[in-house]
Amino acid sequence: MKKLRLILGDQLNERHTWFQENDDNITYCMFEMRQETDYVKHHIQKVTGFFVAMRNFCDKLSSKGHNFIYYKINEEENEQDLTKNLAKLIDAHQIEKFEYLEPDEYRLDKQLNNFCKDLEIESEVFSTEHFYTNRGFLKDFFKGKKQFLMENFYRKMRKKHQILMVDEQPEGGKWNYDKSNRKKWKGDTLIPPFKTFDEDVSEIVKDIESAGITTFGNINKKNFEYPTSRSQALAYLRYFCDNLLVHFGDYQDAMHTDQVYLFHSRISFALNTKMVSPKEIIDKVLETFRENKNDIDISQVEGFIRQIIGWREYMRGMYWMLMPDYKKENFLENKNKLPEFFWTGKTKMNCLKNAIQNSLDNGYAHHIQRLMVTGNFALLTQIHPDEIDAWYLGIYVDAIEWVQLPNTRGMSQFADGGKIATKPYVSSGSYISKMSNYCDSCSYKKTKKFGDDACPFNTLYWNFLEEKQEKLSSNFRMKMMYSVLNKMSTSDRAKIKEKANHIIENINEY
Ligand code: FAD
Ligand code: SF4
Repeated sequence: MKKLRLILGDQLNERHTWFQENDDNITYCMFEMRQETDYVKHHIQKVTGFFVAMRNFCDKLSSKGHNFIYYKINEEENEQDLTKNLAKLIDAHQIEKFEYLEPDEYRLDKQLNNFCKDLEIESEVFSTEHFYTNRGFLKDFFKGKKQFLMENFYRKMRKKHQILMVDEQPEGGKWNYDKSNRKKWKGDTLIPPFKTFDEDVSEIVKDIESAGITTFGNINKKNFEYPTSRSQALAYLRYFCDNLLVHFGDYQDAMHTDQVYLFHSRISFALNTKMVSPKEIIDKVLETFRENKNDIDISQVEGFIRQIIGWREYMRGMYWMLMPDYKKENFLENKNKLPEFFWTGKTKMNCLKNAIQNSLDNGYAHHIQRLMVTGNFALLTQIHPDEIDAWYLGIYVDAIEWVQLPNTRGMSQFADGGKIATKPYVSSGSYISKMSNYCDSCSYKKTKKFGDDACPFNTLYWNFLEEKQEKLSSNFRMKMMYSVLNKMSTSDRAKIKEKANHIIENINEY
């Protein structure tokens, strides 16, 4: 039976059972398409990273004897649309069965579902063999529950997969070491540099430009830094385990003007394109821990494992549990526009300038920059979640909707009214000052609320609480902040409102 098998750009799993045997009756297909480059405006490194990784994947598997049809972005046969390309190939090659791997995005899942409904030949969908859990796992796990706490799911995963467990109890006696993972980085702990791959991506960037794809952000064409093959991804993982794991937990929340990555793994692009699997990562991290037990504390390891088997799998499960309605949620009824400086980095607020410039230069910001700097500011200034989604989905190389959307709309913007986060992640300048050195060289004064040089976060924070009081004051975790707000004098509250309105109305001057 002649089969056509589709591989999407984020399904680069070389170890999939599909590739265990060669079969002349099977043709694999992969397409670089405008459908995928144009649904949102993407960072140049994101489009480049995907195309390079896809081409490498196709070359590698072709060299192992698998039949591949690969359409580059500028190829004449390329219809630039997934189902049009598939229909043409099915017809041209007299295909008798179409097979594909479960897409992680709702949009593509729907498109392929509809396509198969109308197909006259047989079709079948297979697992990507990547995640620990299947799509429906969380829906069953939280059935009948009012709260969907990540912590409950995480503990279940630890037990189920016997990760950091001793006889059904958490190794080290604790499930969670978050409290010891809150150090500020002061430049005293060494961060050995990663030896980059010297990968020249000029040709692909030329292809992207000549296709007329609109992108933004910066790129070093002569030395592309993201792993674009499985072997490079494994090199990243080794580097992380050998050099960074030892302090991962300690500095997980830290931010610094001199360091883009600190002790973060930068593995998300390789992971989300499935060049490596979460299980391989967990196994390698545990092996490193077991071999270096005297040097690496369990808190560093637990902090990392929680991200992979906890947050990552949880976000995917929540996405599939809550889509498609989730994409429209706007619980706080925010409606402002995203400030222009999110696209340029041109702002006097040093924390935002650094987080945005990192993002424009590297297609990267680490979790706390995304959550407590850009996300925090967007929420405090009450930006419409659609605008925020488009920015996060476009700017980060690791952004694929299943993981971006629940993080942005849910965790960061509280637009789901608390399905993912139990309270909004908002703070005044004090949190940023506690976790970074940004405030030391900022035009604004971190402790001031009023005056031209007052840190904008300070008034925006109290104004946000005031304006959203009706929706948030009954939240148990917000009670303390509301009791502080409600003790403030009427004149202070009026001054805060006036200042915050001025900031929001003149946002691009700040
Ligand atoms: P590390 O800090 O080294 O963490 C290791 C891995 O854990 C990451 O690679 C990632 O796979 C996983 N992880 C950690 N936190 C999360 C999380 N909250 N959700 C899912 N996985 C997590 N992550 C994405 O992969 N794609 C996104 O589009 C994305 N958008 C985000 C948007 C916002 C507003 C926020 C607050 C977070 C977002 N995250 C996203 C989660 C997290 O910020 C990134 O996974 C992380 O910064 C990637 O860098 P790293 O590989 O160095 O991570
Ligand atoms: Fe950001 Fe305010 Fe600190 Fe400036 S003073 S870096 S605006 S938190």
